[in-house]
Amino acid sequence: MSFYHSTRSSADPVTSKQAILAGIAPDGGLYVSDELGGRSLSLDEVCAQDYHDTARLVLGTLLDDYTGDEIARCVEAAYGPQWDTTEICPVSPLGTDWLLELYHGPTCAFKDVALQMLPQLMGVARGADGERIMIVTATSGDTGKAALDGFAGVDGMGVTVFYPAGKVSDIQRLQMVTQLGGNVAVCAVNGTFDDCQGQVKRVFADHELAGRLAGRGVALSSANSINVGRLAPQVTYYFDAYAQLVRREAIRVGDEVTFCVPTGNFGDVLAGYYAKRMGLPVRRLIVASNANDVLTDFLTTGTYDRRRDFHKTISPSMDILVSSNLERLLYFASDGDCELVASLMADLAEKGVYTVPDRVMDEIRSVFSCGRADDEATRATIRDAWRELDALIDPHTAVAKHVLDATPNDGTERVCLSTASPYKFCADVLAALGEVTDGMNGFACMDALEQLTGTVAPPQLSGLRAGEVLHDDVCDPDRVGAFVESACARVFL
Ligand SMILES: *Cc1c(COP(=O)(O)O)cnc(C)c1O
Repeated sequence: MSFYHSTRSSADPVTSKQAILAGIAPDGGLYVSDELGGRSLSLDEVCAQDYHDTARLVLGTLLDDYTGDEIARCVEAAYGPQWDTTEICPVSPLGTDWLLELYHGPTCAFKDVALQMLPQLMGVARGADGERIMIVTATSGDTGKAALDGFAGVDGMGVTVFYPAGKVSDIQRLQMVTQLGGNVAVCAVNGTFDDCQGQVKRVFADHELAGRLAGRGVALSSANSINVGRLAPQVTYYFDAYAQLVRREAIRVGDEVTFCVPTGNFGDVLAGYYAKRMGLPVRRLIVASNANDVLTDFLTTGTYDRRRDFHKTISPSMDILVSSNLERLLYFASDGDCELVASLMADLAEKGVYTVPDRVMDEIRSVFSCGRADDEATRATIRDAWRELDALIDPHTAVAKHVLDATPNDGTERVCLSTASPYKFCADVLAALGEVTDGMNGFACMDALEQLTGTVAPPQLSGLRAGEVLHDDVCDPDRVGAFVESACARVFL
């Protein structure tokens, strides 16, 4: 069986179930397993099977203290009829490249791939009579709804989401406030996303609150993208996309493929690196950033420097200054040098900057390339993709496509990861296509986008029109803890 330990110390190994329940290691590091490179999957096997088979194979390999039956049940529950295609993550042509469509889940964003699975994995790990768990999360838009949908109705668990009042799109707000389920809670906060995030961190650090909740058999946890239970499910679609290219006869088994990934917290592209270490023939992984280009600078210079201005962009899910999952790459690229990782992370915390030794950067650069797209380039890419390729893409996907187009093609097949439905960002997509959207609400933009392009909005989004608003709570930042406590009382009564 493989064990997980912190990126900052190899002491105190835990099983994958324990790592998934804990989320983050006690020393603040991220859970990793050293067996990763020793577990090559058979490409012939992967290419002969469907998404669900590959999900069972990948998860069974990475999380090997789960039984085959447990994994099979999780896969069936996570990738069922709530997806609008049985292929789950289909690949389609995009000019001379390929588009990997990760937005066919219940909330139309790629986070569904992981957040439909994480609650299942947590549910099995806590066992039938374990502590009850309340997931608490702050969201700037996408994560909140994906977490609500994933955890709704899961036995013994609840989910509470905070979003900044007036600072998410119409559609994103409606997705959250119409969420069904007896174990969900949603609250708008009078403040910014940072206020929400800061308050949620305080809730996790509040020992008195934790003590009161423990007295009622409830523990708080997070669904953050550093959880191995969110990372592992994302490895599946790299293998499955490869299998689809083989079946389309675009490549032969063994050929290398390049992936370009719109990146924020570095979870998605790191899953591609895991796939490579598990035997997938990956030529390069291209990290695409928006104007928050801290990763582009890092990959170019070897220095990670978060001391910079934060830019609000039209690809908000990538507006991030600290890409947490990068810590796992530093661990693997340094051959498991926990001491080095710990000292780099201490530098980041104390000085806001760290510099990685050349030998580690050489290893990283042998796999990773990078590039950036500002909002103007992103809009131009949305427009050109529609006019020239008949492809309607969202702003996050457009960042990746811009970077991919700017990367010289060395003859390998290339896959651009598409992380959200364009209908989640109707107003910005319409504006990119040259339409005026002043004063139009979310549904007016949705109608206009359908009319202009002759495409159809996903029913998960157009259906929100008929949705009943079930959550109208609003609180000040200093009431976030009290809201969590009352949500726990209500959900776990
Ligand atoms: C979260 C998100 C990303 C960034 O993914 P990371 O794993 O954080 O790098 C990109 N696009 C969309 C639409 C997202 O929701």
